[in-house]
Parts: sequence; structure tokens; C-alpha cells
Amino acid sequence: MWSFRAWRRRRVLARNPVDPALWARVRERLPFLDGLDEQEDRHLRERSVLFLHDKRLNPLGDLRLDVEERLLLAAQAQLPLLHLGDLDWYQGFHELVLYPDDFLSPQRHRDSSGVVHEWDGSHSGEAWLQGPVILAWPGVLASGGWEGYNLVIHELAHKLDMLNGDANGQPPLHRDMRPSDWATAMQSAYDALNAQLDAHPDADTAIDPYAAENPAEFFAVVSEYFFSAPDLLEHTWPAVYAQLRAFYRQDPLARLRRLRAEHPEYRTPPHPHHR
Ligand SMILES: [Zn+2]
Repeated sequence: MWSFRAWRRRRVLARNPVDPALWARVRERLPFLDGLDEQEDRHLRERSVLFLHDKRLNPLGDLRLDVEERLLLAAQAQLPLLHLGDLDWYQGFHELVLYPDDFLSPQRHRDSSGVVHEWDGSHSGEAWLQGPVILAWPGVLASGGWEGYNLVIHELAHKLDMLNGDANGQPPLHRDMRPSDWATAMQSAYDALNAQLDAHPDADTAIDPYAAENPAEFFAVVSEYFFSAPDLLEHTWPAVYAQLRAFYRQDPLARLRRLRAEHPEYRTPPHPHHR
């Protein structure tokens, strides 16, 4: 069937070819994409091009982004959507605002009074309902590895969450998912983390305690782990991992295990507990 959308996509892709060497450099900078198969790699590259065509990147101050850096951002943004079909999951915003600020250290931590600080008091990223996504460029550069940290995925998970209203930790689920299964898995993990932190505010939790802030942050943080520390998330909260696998329709842990089986020397960095 003739489709205007498909025709437009082909035209955008034809007009914006990506040099294979350039794409190879982007892949090199994003180890958490290791293990994608050839078809996934091609889809990710094409969707990254379409994303950059559809969204406006707005770097502030002295920040300048070259084509490699723009692709570096787009590829991370598109990974969560890789198996979600053609629906425009990022329909709610048109602009990504990028702050040049370099922060002292990319840390979020919860002090003994239970107050959570993002990036030493500043915010590394924000996603507003109906508004742009705001990212600090140093946080984007710190993302892409297997460290359980990914600012891009965190902020865009908030956007997915907001597709069905306020950010409440539940994005629009697929028909083959049961909302009660989702709610049970997420709530019990969230409650367990909060109970642990209430008892010991400085507890060395497996998952970043920022997830205990509220259900929206919980979803955003576990989405980061799902893609960038799937082994740790599955080990800690298997039911949460299973729900995210059903939602994102991909299995990063299977990818990581295949990588390790095929390349016994493949190493992911140890997961820092507090980042
Ligand atoms: Zn957040």
C-alpha cells in the first residue's frame, strides 16, 4: 500500500546518508549498543537520522555539536524505541535543549536527611509535560556505557511515561501486558527500596537510590539500568526486568550474555553504587 509516511522516510534517509566510518565511530563511543545485530544496527541508524530530522537540537552557550555528537545523542534516544514499531513515541516534544555546563561530578546522591541532590544541586536533565527535553551535555557524554547510567534514556523515559498523562511511572502498556502485573512488580520493588533507605539512609543499594524519589523517577532510573546494566537489574528485581522487557520489547540481558559467550574477553565495567 502506498504510504506517505514511508515515502517521506525514504526521502529523508536518501537525503541524509550516514558515512559508515562516522557511524562506526558513534558505535565505538556507545558500548551499550554492542551486541545489536545487523538489522537492529541499520534500523537504529535510520531512526537516528529521522529523529535528528524531526527534532530540533538546541545547544546553549558555547556548546557546538558536530554531526557525530548529534548522532551520539540520537542513537541513545532511539535505542528504547528500537522494537516499538512505527508509532511516534516521541510525539510529545519537538526540541532538545542542551546545556553546556560542566558539573563538578556527575553525581546524584541522597543525603542522610533523605534529600536527593541531582548533580550537586543542579539538574542534569529535565523533561516537561508538553515541553522540550533538557539535557546537560556532560551527562550525555557520560552515558552510553554499561554503567547503569544513561541520562538520555532517563529523560526520554519520562517522555514515554507522559504519553498517557502525568509522569506517574506507568507509560502506555501494550495490549498483551497486564497493568496489574506492571503495578505489582514496580510497587513492590519501589517499596522495598524505600524501606531499605528509611532504615538506613546511607545504605549501599544495588540500584541508585534516586529511584526511590517517586514512581516517575523509579521508572526512569530502572529504564537506565534495563539498557545499561541489565544483569544488575535482573538480578536485583527480576519482575521489574520482565515488565520492562515486555514494554520495550527487547532483551538487553540476552544481548549482553550473547556478547560474553561470543567474546569471553568482553568486559563491562563494575557498577558503581553511587554515581
Ligand atoms: Zn528524572
